[in-house]
Amino acid sequence: MQAEFDAFTELIENSRSIVIFTGAGISTESGIPDFRSPGGLWEKNRPIDFSEFLGSEEARRESWRRKFAMESVLSKAKPNKGHMAISSLYDKGKIGAVITQNIDGLHQASGIRDEDVIEVHGNTTYAKCLDCGSRMELVEVQKIFSEDETLPICGRCGGIIKTATISFGQAMPEEEMRRASAAALTCDLLLAIGSSLVVYPAADIPLMAKQGGAGLVILNREPTPLDGHADLVLNREIGETLAAVTKL
Ligand code: NAD
Ligand code: ZN
Repeated sequence: MQAEFDAFTELIENSRSIVIFTGAGISTESGIPDFRSPGGLWEKNRPIDFSEFLGSEEARRESWRRKFAMESVLSKAKPNKGHMAISSLYDKGKIGAVITQNIDGLHQASGIRDEDVIEVHGNTTYAKCLDCGSRMELVEVQKIFSEDETLPICGRCGGIIKTATISFGQAMPEEEMRRASAAALTCDLLLAIGSSLVVYPAADIPLMAKQGGAGLVILNREPTPLDGHADLVLNREIGETLAAVTKL
C-alpha cells in the first residue's frame, strides 16, 4: 500500500502539466450517487436516452420528474476531500485542465476556475432549447412543470427544452471535446479518477493522453477496461487517497 502511494506521489511530483479526468465516483463522497455502483442511479432508473427524450412526451415528463427529484441532493452537495485535493494541486500550478464527465459543478465549487473545467457531458444547473440553443433557467422550467407537468417549450422558436446535459445517444459538445483532446494530448500525466471508463467517446480521453506520451494513473474503487494501459492503477477510495498524496 505504501509503495502504491509512493509511486503515485512520485508521478505527481515529476509532472509539470497534469490533466485530471473525473467521473461520477469523485462525487459519491459528496452524497451524489454514481450510475454503476450498487445502489447507484442505474439500478433505480434506467437512463432515458436522447431518442426516447425526443420521441416521447412521457419520457420528457419522466426526465423532468427525475431532475427535480435530484435537485434537493444536488443543490446541497459540497465538494469533498477528493475535489479539494485536486484544487490544492491546481493552486500549486500543477494542473492544466480538469476534464469532467460530471454535471454537478463541484470542481468549480472547489475553486477551479470555470475556464479550466471542461464539461464533456454538459451541466445540469440550467436548461437549453435543442433547436436554437436559447438558455432557460431551471426555476422557470419548474414553474411551468410543477403544477400539472406541462412540458417547457422555447419562448423564441417553440423547440424542445432539455437540461444542458448530454444524454446517451446525444452528440458530444464539439468545442469541449476539442479542448479536452488538446489537453490530453499535451499533458505529461493524466489522472483518471472515479470513472468506470466504459462511456464513450469520453473514455477515449485517457487513451489520448497515453498516445501523446503522457503517464496514466487510474484511481477507482474497482477495475476498469483501461487498466492495462495505465502506468499505475489504484483500486482505492478517492477522498482519502488523494488527500494522502497531496498531504491535505
Ligand atoms: P460510473 O457510475 O459509470 O462509474 C463511477 C465509478 O466510480 C465506479 O466504477 C465506482 O466503482 C467508482 N467509485 C464510486 N465512488 C467511489 C469512491 N468513493 N472511491 C473510488 N471509486 C469510487 O460513472 P462515470 O464513469 O462517470 O459514467 C457515468 C455517466 O453518468 C457520466 O457520463 C456522468 O455524466 C453521469 N453522472 C454524473 C454524476 C455527477 O455529475 N455527479 C452522477 C451520476 C452520473
Ligand atoms: Zn429555441
